[in-house]
Amino acid sequence: MPGVKTAGRIVVLLGAPGVGKGTQGIRLGRELGWAHVSTGDLLRAARRDGSVLGLEARKYMDAGKLVPDGVMVDLVREHLAGLGSGRGVVFDGFPRTVQQAEALDRALAPEREVSAAALLDAPEAVLFKRISGRRSSPGGRVYNVYFDPPRRDGVCDETGEPLIHRTDDQPDTVHTRLAVYREATAPLIGYYEAKGLLVRVDAEGDIDQVYAGLRAAVADRKPAADRAATGS
Ligand code: AMP
Repeated sequence: MPGVKTAGRIVVLLGAPGVGKGTQGIRLGRELGWAHVSTGDLLRAARRDGSVLGLEARKYMDAGKLVPDGVMVDLVREHLAGLGSGRGVVFDGFPRTVQQAEALDRALAPEREVSAAALLDAPEAVLFKRISGRRSSPGGRVYNVYFDPPRRDGVCDETGEPLIHRTDDQPDTVHTRLAVYREATAPLIGYYEAKGLLVRVDAEGDIDQVYAGLRAAVADRKPAADRAATGS
């Protein structure tokens, strides 16, 4: 059928920092057999490798600011090229600006397009506590001083090692990250709503409830061109 896009679906996860895009995106990718692309993870890997990109990104990330659009678009375009077009993709943390969303649309065309943008929604006060309360052990065990505290302040229950409070999880930086979300990223809600692609998912409940809402909202959606062609 002319105009029908048969390649793998593309789902974008939208939502403020701390809303659970990473947890939900990994699970959605695993259960659907799709690639999970987290630009935060790609940048953290670049930092660990000590690459030029990693060094450049570091100052923005530690301050809770966005890495410039040009850098992000090149990174994602390169990553997408390596994935092949048959596979679905869950984007987590990209796009984060309208410019990035437009660049993603251009990078996907003409074979593919975004099939849904799922907005994970939770009150900002909850998100602030989720992120600023996070502490992790060097081995990767994660606590939260508000919701899941260690038995002794600042010490891992399992290993006795001191817990780490990441630079970008410090309260001032969290305020910046939430403000950046409101100013630069929240306009994407209108961007995808205007295209008829936005689905809202309540992200305040437990992980399984949120996942059930997300799965139901996105999995069966088809790209707009298919919907137009089939009338569904
Ligand atoms: P995340 O793990 O998605 O919260 O990303 C961590 C940090 O990486 C963000 O606070 C930004 O500094 C940077 N980052 C990740 N994705 C993007 C993006 N799409 N555009 C700009 N900066 C990004």
